[in-house]
Amino acid sequence: MNDIILLKQGEMVLKGQNRREFEIKLMSNIRRRLKPFGEFKIYCMQSTVYVEPQGLCDMESAYEATKTIFGIMSVARAAACPKEKDAILETAISYLEPLLMSANSFKVESKRADKRFPMSSIELSQYVGGLLHDRFPHLKPEMHTPELIVNVEIRDLAAYVHGSAESGAGGLPVGVGGRMITLLSGGIDSPVATYLMAKRGVKLLPVHFFSHPYTSEMAKEKVLTLTKILTKHCGRMTVEIVPFTEIQESIRTNCPEGLLTVIMRRFMMRISERIALHNGCIALVTGENLGQVASQTAEALAVTEQCLTIPTLRPLIALDKKEIIDIARNIKTFDTSILPYEDCCTVFTPRRPRTKPKIAEVLAAEESLDIEALVARALSNIERITFDI
Ligand code: ATP
Ligand code: MG
Repeated sequence: MNDIILLKQGEMVLKGQNRREFEIKLMSNIRRRLKPFGEFKIYCMQSTVYVEPQGLCDMESAYEATKTIFGIMSVARAAACPKEKDAILETAISYLEPLLMSANSFKVESKRADKRFPMSSIELSQYVGGLLHDRFPHLKPEMHTPELIVNVEIRDLAAYVHGSAESGAGGLPVGVGGRMITLLSGGIDSPVATYLMAKRGVKLLPVHFFSHPYTSEMAKEKVLTLTKILTKHCGRMTVEIVPFTEIQESIRTNCPEGLLTVIMRRFMMRISERIALHNGCIALVTGENLGQVASQTAEALAVTEQCLTIPTLRPLIALDKKEIIDIARNIKTFDTSILPYEDCCTVFTPRRPRTKPKIAEVLAAEESLDIEALVARALSNIERITFDI
């Protein structure tokens, strides 16, 4: 049996001139993602990516993995056969036998990308459907809500037979949207923000601020585990662990308590921007969400990003907590995110944080800090850890 995986491209089919570039990126992402499961021939024709095993491959795992790759609208495991009506029928019978045996109703749907095929789509569906019904008389033909759809696709190189396709991950291929820094804490929100930006085709570089010994090795491990989980969708990632203790201690000693959080967050942004510029990244991404906490009022967000020259993107800005948690559960980051290790923000939380800080007083408070020296020391002591899928 010529087992194959067919991947239908998502919204990238709407692209004009960039389309080929998107396809090349998608195929290279698929190639990298499927490497652990054997050798595959991967090619692209007519909005479909074909994944053909070369020799012995773990097809089941490869198929599951394709569901996590952005840029793909639907996935199906199919059998390839010659473009001849009886070969198609025999392939449907042998390849889909378990499904044909267990379903109660069915229909055949044919598509002809190769218009040279001598039958029309309707004729082919009727031919295959009629004979399948003879072979499996319990199957009721049902045009509107069949339990099983037998799909037949006549394409350039061969005919393909498969059962119902499943949804793919959607979005755009990772890499076509440029590179950005994602500020990754150990919480629920920032892994979801990272996932959503990767879905729009962005290659992400995670940065984590680590306040040892106020936060433990376990808190760092948690961020590393989250990164590892995210590589499934985001591809290879190198986390930059930035030492943040000295900065937090200086702020606590020198600045008014109500402004601690916003000043601390401005340092996170400044350092992230430096890392962004060094790595060809065009923006920062955070898990901030309007009104969630004192530091996430519109006023506080404005003051936070005032120190930047590149944009900050906040994909969760208007989501409800429940919507964020639903995504976190789907992408399997939730259980790690709720492990009870303290974050650097919680350790230094002021008793009464200012919800509407004024930029002038923040700038005045920062005068007591040697910003450049603090930033430079943090940057020179970064630890980097790479994760692959
Ligand atoms: P999260 O659930 O992602 O921790 P949160 O609701 O707890 O978010 P904050 O702790 O105020 O919110 O942080 C807001 C955003 O700032 C986070 O989503 C993340 O992008 C960034 N951030 C916070 N703490 C850190 C950290 N230690 N390292 C890197 N980024 C951080
Ligand atoms: Mg947090």
